[in-house]
Formats: sequence, structure tokens, C-alpha cells
Amino acid sequence: MRRRGILFVISGPSGVGKGTIREALLKRMDDLKVSISATTRPPRPGEVDGKDYFFLNQEQFKKMIEEDNFLEWAKVYQNLYGTPRDFVLENLEKGQDVLLEIDIQGAMQVKNKMPEGVFIFIYPPDIATLSKRLCGRGKDSIESIKHRLAACEEELKHAKYYDYVVVNDDLDVAVKKTEAIIIAERCRIKYIDLEVM
Ligand code: 5GP
Repeated sequence: MRRRGILFVISGPSGVGKGTIREALLKRMDDLKVSISATTRPPRPGEVDGKDYFFLNQEQFKKMIEEDNFLEWAKVYQNLYGTPRDFVLENLEKGQDVLLEIDIQGAMQVKNKMPEGVFIFIYPPDIATLSKRLCGRGKDSIESIKHRLAACEEELKHAKYYDYVVVNDDLDVAVKKTEAIIIAERCRIKYIDLEVM
């Protein structure tokens, strides 16, 4: 049974746990291709170039924009992030399902270009929990956390443009729900060629 790959986009506000959900999903599903983003953010301790991100300087990133190498790109809290286009399109063409974990601005760009994708919004249980998570992960300054929480209110309004909403109040449950969405989407009749079954 040969079909084009399905594009899955996981997105949501900063600190909602989408990166953790992505990592957990990859351990459970070995048939998803994960897009590695480019960013101008400096690597955090332990992060590896080409595995966690392609770490670029401003000039390199701008060159990629000029050469139209991104499926989408956005400025997320002072840094630029973008999804390299060829990796996504080539894998979809080969029939491989591709997973993107990107911010909401980026997801909205992808939705415009590829509305046939499956868009999953990871929703925080409440603002207090989100605030606790942002503080607890120790990646951001107080100023930056305040900024992210203020942006979050606006970002939550975008949930209505997605196909699915998963509330991340319990990580295991959120991972199972996201996996269930992927499994169910793969069974949709539009992807299945009944003639060859
Ligand atoms: P971090 O710097 O903590 O790894 O990621 C910061 C934010 O950037 C997260 O919300 C993450 O989802 C988002 N992000 C990561 N890669 C991309 C990308 O390629 N495009 C966009 N638009 N956002 C991204």
C-alpha cells in the first residue's frame, strides 16, 4: 500500500511540554521522520548540532530565507527558528510521515501552505501550571517568563485553527492521546487504496 506521507504538526505555547511529548512519541513510534529545525539560538549544554538543531548565525539563517529554503520560519523570543523545506517535502514524497514541533506562528504558515497536514495543539491545563513549568525548567529569566505568559493568552486563541487539541495535564495521557491521533489519522480512508488490499 503506497501513499504519500502525512505531515503531523505539534504546536502550542512555550513551556506547554510539546518538546517532551515529541521525545516520548519518538520512543514509542519508530516510523516518524522528525524534522530538525535551524535556529540562531546558541546551543544549550548537551545539545548537538545537526541532531537537536542546525545552529546557524544570523547571516547563514538569512541566506536560507533568501534562497527560500524554509517551509516556514519565525522569530520566537529573540531568536529565529525555521523548518528546512526539502527534508519535509522529500520524505512526504517517499511516503514517510513527518513530525514538526514548532511554535504557533510557524504552524499557521505551514497550515496556509499545506492545509492537508494534521495540526495538533498542545494546550496547558491552566496558566498557573504553565508558569510553574516555565520557572521549573530553569531555561528562562523572570522577564522572559513574564513575556511568554503574556504571549500565551493570545496564542491560545489560535487553537481553533487546529484539527486536534490535547491538554497536557498528565504527560503520559497527553502522549497517548497524541499517539492515538497519529494512529487514527493513518487509518483514514483517504490514505488507503482499497483496490490493492
Ligand atoms: P527552544 O529554543 O526552547 O528549543 O524552542 C523555542 C520555541 O521554538 C519552541 O516553542 C519550539 O517549538 C519553537 N521552534 C523550534 N523549532 C522551530 C521551527 O523550526 N519553527 C518555528 N516556527 N518554531 C520552532
